[in-house]
Amino acid sequence: MSKKVLVLAETREGALRNVSFEAIAAAKQISGGGEVVAVLLGDSVSEFGAELVNCGADRVITVEHPHLKSYTSDGYGQAFMAVIEQENPEGIVFGHTAVGKDLSPKIASKLQAGLISDVTTIEGEGEDAVFVRPIYSGKAFEKKTIKEGITFVTVRPNNIAPLPREERSGEVSSLVVDITNLRTIISNVVRKSAEGVDLSEAKVIVAGGRGVKSADGFAPLQELANLLGGAVGASRGACDADYVDYSLQIGQTGKVVTPDLYIAAGISGAIQHLAGMSNSKVIVAINKDPEANIFKVADYGIVGDLFEVVPMLTEEFRKVM
Ligand SMILES: Cc1cc2nc3c(=O)[nH]c(=O)nc-3n(C[C@H](O)[C@H](O)[C@H](O)COP(=O)(O)OP(=O)(O)OC[C@H]3O[C@@H](n4cnc5c(N)ncnc54)[C@H](O)[C@@H]3O)c2cc1C
Repeated sequence: MSKKVLVLAETREGALRNVSFEAIAAAKQISGGGEVVAVLLGDSVSEFGAELVNCGADRVITVEHPHLKSYTSDGYGQAFMAVIEQENPEGIVFGHTAVGKDLSPKIASKLQAGLISDVTTIEGEGEDAVFVRPIYSGKAFEKKTIKEGITFVTVRPNNIAPLPREERSGEVSSLVVDITNLRTIISNVVRKSAEGVDLSEAKVIVAGGRGVKSADGFAPLQELANLLGGAVGASRGACDADYVDYSLQIGQTGKVVTPDLYIAAGISGAIQHLAGMSNSKVIVAINKDPEANIFKVADYGIVGDLFEVVPMLTEEFRKVM
């Protein structure tokens, strides 16, 4: 049986987040030839409708309201539930983002639906779809299916390939929802971390640890990240030492990332750090201690002083880019 699947499409700083396209690809697979409907919530989001159609959505529904400018679980919850009531879907896909992680349990409990979170691979399609997700901080994987009711999943950013972008036609409609009785209204958002590539969606991450020794020590890492179109991340050691903000922390109590390339400089490779990055596609470790634990998960290990190796890498990459 083919399914109608709703996707929560997220925007950030005036653009659609990549995970929205990945969620559409996941929804296509879950739908088994059915319909994929992308849902856009915000104060002014209809301009993104066509792009979602070009990336595989059969239809787009927008809910626009001043109270949806910033995420609140109350506001988004009311808006998304209104779309569910109108559409009566058999499947729902969210990105496993801060918003998706917060909103999905709320919606699942309202629907009395099962929820499979942090999915990294989907095997099969439609009724036969099996969802693969990491457990025990990425040391093992489990496979799950939903036997009855709505198939509700969140997908980890950077794992499911988006569909090829092509000119397509699909309806973009709006739904008017009265957002009321909000317990929280966000009046202003002040960003703590620097602008740039979103860490959880970055294809390349250059991460530094306590071995970077100071805030200024992160400058060569930032230079390499900028050259590769990536983002800078950090171990908790570097955050605790106040070299960088905690928003850059990767690991068990920080962000979980799966970039194509993860360069770890001056990071020992504690189990809690590995929990956030060991599923990266290619890992390069730079550490002056040949016994450092990070080398156990690295595809390429460079034993040396990061202050010599990182600028050298930047110079070499510059020659070929
Ligand atoms: C409950 C809990 C949750 C945690 N969550 C996280 C988490 O989410 N993320 C996280 O990262 N940690 C987490 N930790 C902390 C973790 O256990 C480690 O303490 C931390 O990851 C160490 O950071 P580090 O590798 O930067 O520092 P260190 O362990 O001090 O390692 C620094 C490394 O830099 C190398 N080095 C030094 N100078 C140079 C140089 N010039 N060139 C090259 N290499 C050099 C050293 O050889 C060393 O290997 C958590 C801990 C607990 C208890």
